[in-house]
Amino acid sequence: MTTIRNIKQIIHPQMVIEGAGVLLRRSFGPHKSNLFDPFLLFDHFAFNDPIEGPIRGFPTHPHRGIETVTYMLEGVVRHRDSLGNMGEIGPGDVQWMTSGRGILHEEMPRRGPSGAIYGFQLWVNLPARLKMSPPKYQEVTAESIPIVERDGVKARVVAGELFGTRGPVREIAAEPLYADVEIGPGREFIQALPPEHTVLAYVFEGSGQFLNGETGHSVAVQAVSMVEFGPGTEIHIQADESSSIRFMLIAGAPFREPIVPYGPFVMNTVEEIQQALIDLRNGTFVQA
Ligand code: FE
Repeated sequence: MTTIRNIKQIIHPQMVIEGAGVLLRRSFGPHKSNLFDPFLLFDHFAFNDPIEGPIRGFPTHPHRGIETVTYMLEGVVRHRDSLGNMGEIGPGDVQWMTSGRGILHEEMPRRGPSGAIYGFQLWVNLPARLKMSPPKYQEVTAESIPIVERDGVKARVVAGELFGTRGPVREIAAEPLYADVEIGPGREFIQALPPEHTVLAYVFEGSGQFLNGETGHSVAVQAVSMVEFGPGTEIHIQADESSSIRFMLIAGAPFREPIVPYGPFVMNTVEEIQQALIDLRNGTFVQA
């Protein structure tokens, strides 16, 4: 039976300062309540003000037990890590980093030709059985992300499947769908998603109407907002007549495991967090 998901909540991102003084919009961060299971954090970097001071970025820091997903639209993020990887995540590129048992990396945003930096970082949890797995990266260049168009809707599919097209990021435990979706003015997007999955839409351009399956009424949403959907089998989003709407569509299977977040680590128990700190102190955090 088809049921339209309800609109559980609309989050207005808060400005926070992270790293060595990076201003960003945070929709949610890691919390033991794990409300967005399997997703832990969603940050939006947007530095568009030329009078803003120097961009300091995120100097070397560890991660354990999670995946960090960086999607850039403008500017670049220079990165370097304990596996010996080094490079730039440029406009349209994606880096899907699976920290597993441990990685040390630095992430340094740099302005593009327009002077702007614009991008997103999503954190995805790992299930207990994979938290201590070997770290790995999937680096995806802009050209290798398929663009699909259907009935006035254009999407870049990073992971998972949309309109019969699969994104290049594979073998992620949370079975995510991650896509950059743009609905043309007045057009509608109806999409079935696995009923057990957590579903979010981060609206970053334009405005539209999100149909709430519970009330049968639409809810007006404009950029920038994070929409959390409730239970159901599909979502209905319509762009306003006067504007397109663009959003990151985020869906994934919850692990339903207890979590203990501590800064850049997310484990299942307090003991595992203590072990991460011991490993860092002893120099055994990164396994050669
Ligand atoms: Fe990081």
